[in-house]
Amino acid sequence: MIRIVLVGAAGRMGRAVEAAAAASGEFEIAARVDVRPEHSQPHGVWSTEVSPVLARGDVVVEFSDPKGAREAAAACAARGAALVSGSTGLSSDDEAALRTASQTIAIFRASNFSLGVAALREALRVALAAVPATWDVEIVERHHRLKKDSPSGTALALADDIRKARSLPGSALRHGRQGAAGPRPAAELGVHAVRGGSWVGDHQVLLAGEGEWLELRHVAQDRAAFAHGALAAARFVTTAGPGWYTMEDMLRAPGRAAR
Ligand code: NAD
Repeated sequence: MIRIVLVGAAGRMGRAVEAAAAASGEFEIAARVDVRPEHSQPHGVWSTEVSPVLARGDVVVEFSDPKGAREAAAACAARGAALVSGSTGLSSDDEAALRTASQTIAIFRASNFSLGVAALREALRVALAAVPATWDVEIVERHHRLKKDSPSGTALALADDIRKARSLPGSALRHGRQGAAGPRPAAELGVHAVRGGSWVGDHQVLLAGEGEWLELRHVAQDRAAFAHGALAAARFVTTAGPGWYTMEDMLRAPGRAAR
C-alpha cells in the first residue's frame, strides 16, 4: 500500500482522489489536510496543516490552491517527503519556490493529470509541424463557474507548447477580444476562457487556415480522469530521487507508464 497525505482533501479534487484511491486497492489515504476540515466525512485523520501528519504518509498529493501548494512543498522539503502537486494559478514566485524545493525532494507537477490531455499535447505538436506556419491558432477552454483561475493552467501549458513551436513571445497571447483593433495579427495566439455551470474541463485548440480548420479537443467529463493520473504520479514519485517531474517523464519512463 502507498500511503498518501492528501492536501485539499475536502475539495472537489480531494474527494475524487479519495474515491480513486479507495477503488485502487493500492493506495490508502493516511491523513487528510484542509483549511476547511470536514471531520465527519470521511472518518480518519484530519489536519489543517501538513507538517503534523506528514510522517503518516509515503507521499503528499496536493490539490488546494497556490498557497497550499507552497506550504506543502515547504513541509515536504523540511522532512524529505515526495510531493505530487496539481493546484493551478501559481504565480512565478510560487513556481520558483516549488522548483527550489525540488532540489532536495521529488516534486511531480502537472496542471492537468489526465492522460487524454497528455495525448492532446502530443497531437498538437504533430499538427503544428504539419500545417503551414501561417495558420492561426486559438485556444478555447470551458470550466465550471467556481473555478478561481483564468485561463486554466492547461490552456497556459498548451499556449506555452504553441509559443515554443512557433517561436512566439509571451506577449503573443491575446486573452479575449473586443473593439475594432483591425485584422487579427499573424503572430497572435488567442486564449478564451468560458465559465459556467459544472463543466469539469474542456480544451479546444483551433488551427485555422484558408477555407479549412483543424480542431483538437479534450473533454474531461469526470474528475476521476485527473485523480487516476495523480495516483499514477504518486506511484512514480515514491521511487524517484530529488528533482522536477512532469507527465512527460512518467509517460516516457520505460516500464513505468501510467496504469
Ligand atoms: P476546491 O475549491 O473544490 O478544493 C480546494 C480545497 O483546498 C478546499 O477544500 C480548500 O479548503 C482547500 N485549501 C485551500 N487552501 C488550502 C491550504 N492552504 N491548505 C490546505 N487546504 C487548502 O478546488 P478543486 O476543484 O478541488 O481544485 C483544487 C485545485 O486543483 C485548483 O487549483 C484547480 O485548478 C486544480 N485542479 C488541477 C487539476 C490537475 O489535473 N492538475 C485538475 C482539477 C483541478
